[in-house]
Amino acid sequence: MTAASRVDLADILREAGLRVTAPRVAVLFEVTAGNHVTAEQVAAAVRDRDGTISTQAVYDVLGALARAGLVRKIEPAGSPARFETRVGDNHHHAVCRSCGTIVDVDCVVGEPPCMLPSDASGFVIDEAEVTFWGLCPKCQTTSKPQEKENAT
Ligand SMILES: [Zn+2]
Ligand SMILES: [Zn+2]
Repeated sequence: MTAASRVDLADILREAGLRVTAPRVAVLFEVTAGNHVTAEQVAAAVRDRDGTISTQAVYDVLGALARAGLVRKIEPAGSPARFETRVGDNHHHAVCRSCGTIVDVDCVVGEPPCMLPSDASGFVIDEAEVTFWGLCPKCQTTSKPQEKENAT
């Protein structure tokens, strides 16, 4: 994804009914530029580029962006929450068990819910979220993924 300009991001915030603030633009910028980033990664990137921001402030902004539907929060088991700006298409994710890399898995239908359980027990289903677990291409070539930190 190409990084959007900050002017565009301000427009996106405004259209979502959010007040435009420097931290919101900075956080949205980093989520747009990143790939399923954690709040910690966003905080580090904003500090790098724009100066101080507290991690708590980043969490607050991410929460506001998620409530406004601008970012999607995904929470793979055993991993910190990740954030992305690809929203509304009910795509799924594949997570690498070894290094934690997350990639998008497109859904054929594209709109939630893109699949239905064989028996929904009377529920009206409006979203389906599937996490595929496995090893990414890089980790498949490492014979002992657990020892990757001592590999060199
Ligand atoms: Zn991996
Ligand atoms: Zn995704």
